[in-house]
Amino acid sequence: MQIITEPGQMQTIAEKLRLNRQCIGVVMTMGALHEGHLSLVKLAQKTAGIVILTIFVNPSQFAEHEDLHKYPRPFENDAALAKAAGVDFLFAPEAESIYPENYQTTVTCSAVAKRFEGEMRPDHFKGVATIVTKLFNITKPHIAVFGEKDAQQLAVIRRLVEDLNMPIKIVEAPIVREKNGLAVSSRNIYLSIQERDAAAILYKGICHAKMRVAEEDNNLQNIAQEIEEMINATPGCRSDYVSFVDETRFEPVETAEKGREYRLLLAMYSGTVRLIDNGKIRA
Ligand code: AMP
Repeated sequence: MQIITEPGQMQTIAEKLRLNRQCIGVVMTMGALHEGHLSLVKLAQKTAGIVILTIFVNPSQFAEHEDLHKYPRPFENDAALAKAAGVDFLFAPEAESIYPENYQTTVTCSAVAKRFEGEMRPDHFKGVATIVTKLFNITKPHIAVFGEKDAQQLAVIRRLVEDLNMPIKIVEAPIVREKNGLAVSSRNIYLSIQERDAAAILYKGICHAKMRVAEEDNNLQNIAQEIEEMINATPGCRSDYVSFVDETRFEPVETAEKGREYRLLLAMYSGTVRLIDNGKIRA
């Protein structure tokens, strides 16, 4: 595995790989690698001959009050995990080489980025769309794997690729969960044992929704309300939002139509740690 830190060098390598007719797959992460990230690498390896893993804690997607400076950066361990997983190139640039002094350009996406995470974290998706565009231009992939864990981010990236005619196939990876159902996340290390146990309520909420919809209850607004109550009744937990949405537009849906698929989005705090999760629900 080769470790690259310079965007220009990564671009030259990617260009050569393309000239040699290699299929490039990219997996973008902020590091602190876990099983979820490694499942994305595995999926990329199924389609692409060469896998580039990027590690970059992107400052432009964090708000002032968020955890940019304390975000975990265990680089040596990440590099060892990436190598053991069979990653071909690890691209880990410094912030200064991605956003040099006179940097001025951003990419924005409107409707799908507006609500939920877009509302709670203004400018977050502008930061995401910009870095993803830059990393696409640097790594020149044929395919890119993103996790369903960040469902709205995935919807934003799908729009970005379609709207800007990027010739990249977006592959969606299922959510990897811990034994208690909590989605694996780099931020889970912030949780105490009690907060981690309590956070399992997110997955219980998703299971509750599946059960209620299977009972042929089509009042999604009511079901979302029930889940909010479940979260708020769990010690140390506070609901941020719970909503069913239409998968592509990310608009709230109040009543289910038989046979259609929706996505349940959940965000909550366990203690002071903000967690998001989601699940597909078929009516
Ligand atoms: P992050 O490092 O948190 O920015 O995540 C990098 C990529 O890994 C994104 O595409 C995430 O959606 C994905 N990812 C994060 N957690 C999980 C998980 N538990 N299961 C599957 N994919 C995940």
